[in-house]
Amino acid sequence: ASGYSLLRDPRHNKGLAFTGKERDSHYLRGLLPPVVVSQELQEKKLMHNLRQYKVPLQRYMAMMDLQERNERLFYKLLIDNVEELLPVVYTPTVGEACQKYGSIFRRPQGLYISLKEKGKILEVLRNWPERNIQVIVVTDGERILGLGDLGCQGMGIPVGKLSLYTALGGLRPSACLPITIDVGTNNEQLLKDEFYIGLRQRRANGQEYADLLHEFMCAVKQNYGEKVLIQFEDFANHNAFDLLAKYSKTHLVFNDDIQGTASVVLAGLVAALNLVGGTLAEHTYLFLGAGEAGTGIAELIALEMSRQTNAPIEECRKKIWLVDSKGLIVSSRKTSLQHFKKPWAHEHEPISNLLGAVQAIKPTVLIGTSGVGRTFTKDVVEAMSSFNERPIILALSNPTSQSECTAEEAYTWSKGRAIFASGSPFDPVEYAGKIFVPGQANNAYIFPGFGLGLVISGAIRVHDDMLLAASEALAQQVTQENFDKGLIYPPFTNIRKISAKIAANVAAKAYELGLASHLPRPENLVKYAESCMYSPNYRSYR
Ligand code: NAP
Ligand code: MN
Repeated sequence: ASGYSLLRDPRHNKGLAFTGKERDSHYLRGLLPPVVVSQELQEKKLMHNLRQYKVPLQRYMAMMDLQERNERLFYKLLIDNVEELLPVVYTPTVGEACQKYGSIFRRPQGLYISLKEKGKILEVLRNWPERNIQVIVVTDGERILGLGDLGCQGMGIPVGKLSLYTALGGLRPSACLPITIDVGTNNEQLLKDEFYIGLRQRRANGQEYADLLHEFMCAVKQNYGEKVLIQFEDFANHNAFDLLAKYSKTHLVFNDDIQGTASVVLAGLVAALNLVGGTLAEHTYLFLGAGEAGTGIAELIALEMSRQTNAPIEECRKKIWLVDSKGLIVSSRKTSLQHFKKPWAHEHEPISNLLGAVQAIKPTVLIGTSGVGRTFTKDVVEAMSSFNERPIILALSNPTSQSECTAEEAYTWSKGRAIFASGSPFDPVEYAGKIFVPGQANNAYIFPGFGLGLVISGAIRVHDDMLLAASEALAQQVTQENFDKGLIYPPFTNIRKISAKIAANVAAKAYELGLASHLPRPENLVKYAESCMYSPNYRSYR
C-alpha cells in the first residue's frame, strides 16, 4: 500500500503523528512536513480550532470532516470532551444538520437503501466494505427528533447515534453500520428543494412499505447472522410499534424511541425518589404526548411498579395518564384510539387541554413527550407547584426548540422547587441566588451500554427485563453529590464507566434468561465489558 493512500484512509491515518520509523517503512517520507506530534497535541489543536466556530453547524461539519480524515482522533476528541461535543454530534445540532443535509453533504456516510434497490438489498449490503457488523442503526426518516419528516436526510441520526455507540459504549467503529431506508418523503419543502438528496416522491406505505422493510430485515439476518443488533430509530409511530412487535420474534431488535427512552426516564424517576420520597406506585404520572416515547415510558413504569408491588400491570397503569393532541386519553375515546393508546384510556370525563388535565389529575410527575415546544406554560408549571412541594418535570422533546419548557422557566415558575431534566441540554440557571443544574434525560445514557451488553453476551433477543436491568444500573450511578445539586442523572463525563455497568447488568440478564450465546459466561461482567471497549489511542505500525 502506498503512503499516499494511508494518509487518505481515515481508519489508519494518524497525520502528523506518524513517527519517523513509520514514515520510513510506509512510504510516507516527504508526504508530511518534518514535525512529529503526539495525539494529545493534535487533540489540543483541534479543540482549539473547534471552539473558534461560533455557529454550531460549523462545529458539526468540522467534526464530520475529522471523522472522514482521522477516525481515531475523532473518537479521542469525542470521548475526552463528551459533555462539550455531545450537543455537536447529537441533539440539538444533529437536528439542524439533518434539515440542511442536502446543502452540507460532502461525502456519503452509511448505507442508503431506497425503493430503487427493491429486490437487490442483499447486494447493497455486500457493497459495504465491512463484513463483521455488530450494530445497525436504521431510520426511514419519517420522525426525526421533533422535527418531523426529513426523508433521506435523516441519515444524520444513524450516523450520530453510531458515533455514540463507539464513543460512549466502546463498540468498534468498523462494527457499526448506519442505514437510511428511503421510501420517499411527505415533506413538501424537501420535495421542492433542489439540493434534496433523496427520492423525489411521496412516501410509499402499506404493502409496498412492508415488503421493502421485510426484504431488508431478511437480508440483514442472512448477511450478518442472528446476533446483529438492529436499532430502529426515528420511525413514525404508525410503523414503529408494528415493526418492533413483528421483528422482535425473529431478530435482535431494539427501538430506541420506545424502549431506550423508557429505560432512561425510569432510571431518572427512580433516582428522583431519593429527593422526593415515596415509591413508584405512590406517585401519579401525567404525560403530554402519547406516542412512542410517552407510551413506551408509561409501560415500563407500570411494569416496574407491578414487579415491586406484585399488583397486576392493569392496576399499575391506572396511576399513569396521557394527553395527546386531542386531550386527556379517557375511556369514552377508546374505540377511536390507536392500539398503543388503548391501555391508557381510563375512566374520566373528557378534558381537552393540558392545564385542565393537570388540575384534574394532580400529578406528582409531569413528562413532556409531545415534540411540541413551549407547551409547559407558566400556568401548567405553577399548577404543578401548587400541589407538589417538589414537582418532577421532565421536558423530553428534542431538539431544544421543541422542549416543552426551558430549564429557566421550570426553575423560575416553580420558585426553585422543580426537579427538572430535559432531552436536549440546557445551561445551569441562577435563581434567587442559587445555581440549578438541569439534568439531561437523554437516551445516550442507555443505548450504548445496552447495545454493548447485548453484543458481549451474544444475545439473540431483547427482553423487557433487560430494559429494567439497564435502567437499574443507570439509577445506581447517581451519587449523593449529584442529588445535592438536584440532579437525577450522573454527569456524562464518566459515561464509559456507566456504560460498562449497564452492559454488565444487561448481559447478566441475558444469561439469566437463557438468551445469551457467548459461552461460558465471563466471571466479572463489568471488567469484561470494559476490556471489550474500543480505544481511540493510536496504534504503532511496524
Ligand atoms: P410520536 O410518536 O410522534 O408522538 C408524539 C405525541 O405527541 C403524539 O401522541 C401526539 O398526539 C402528541 N402531540 C403532538 N402535538 C401535541 C400537542 N400540541 N398537544 C398534545 N399532544 C401533542 O413521537 P415520539 O417518538 O414519542 O417523540 C416525541 C418527542 O420526544 C420528540 O420530540 C422526540 O425528539 C422526543 N424524544 C426524546 C427522547 C430523549 O432522549 N429525551 C427520546 C425519544 C424521543 P396524537 O397522537 O394525537 O397525534
Ligand atoms: Mn430517536
